[in-house]
Amino acid sequence: MSNIQEQIHILVEVQGVELEIHQAGRLVHALSDESAALDRAVAEREDRVSSEKAALDDLKKAYRDLESESKVNAGMIVKSNEKLRAVKTNKEYQSILKEIDEIRKKNSSIEDRMLEQLEAIESAENSVKAEAAELAGFFQSYQEKKEAFAAKEKRERQTVEALNDKKARISANADPKIITVLDDVKKKVRGLAVVPVQQAICMGCHMNIPAQLFNELQRFDELRFCPHCHRIIYWKEQG
Ligand SMILES: [Zn+2]
Repeated sequence: MSNIQEQIHILVEVQGVELEIHQAGRLVHALSDESAALDRAVAEREDRVSSEKAALDDLKKAYRDLESESKVNAGMIVKSNEKLRAVKTNKEYQSILKEIDEIRKKNSSIEDRMLEQLEAIESAENSVKAEAAELAGFFQSYQEKKEAFAAKEKRERQTVEALNDKKARISANADPKIITVLDDVKKKVRGLAVVPVQQAICMGCHMNIPAQLFNELQRFDELRFCPHCHRIIYWKEQG
């Protein structure tokens, strides 16, 4: 193997490892995204349970308000009844009766509302219980999933580390000047920086390589570049 052929072999290997590093890195990213989405889902459920609890508290408070209003009214009825015993005129008597009647009507409507409120409280309590139970179940599976994600992420990070070591080992055999060239090409192109030429076609841009360049490529005497996409090219026999 000529020196250039050997160097290109190293570059191709480095490129392959870099691709693996990139893929493992994307997996790590995807895993942490999924993990964050799980966190959001559990937070949403917790919010829902606590807002339902707050709504239940509001219902209970409204019930207590109605209850004390009804007690105040009952007290007023007692007082009016006492006044009734002391009145002198029929007019006064009728007026107090009317007053009592109005308070009774008011209280009867308050009692209706209290009954409605009780039903609403009962249904809200059931719903809070159901949501809380669901949350508990969800939370358990959430924790299991989180642990699984964390384990996978750790493995992928270890893979990335091992791949970086591998890349460093391979790169150590590369000519630093050639690595500099590779880095320059990488800045200019998307995707692979080192590509084979097969049957006079650059596998990077799928354009034809001039015949003379194609012949020169087979000598492996220096680094050569695709005249169209500027990637590092090398001759590869049709496999
Ligand atoms: Zn090309």
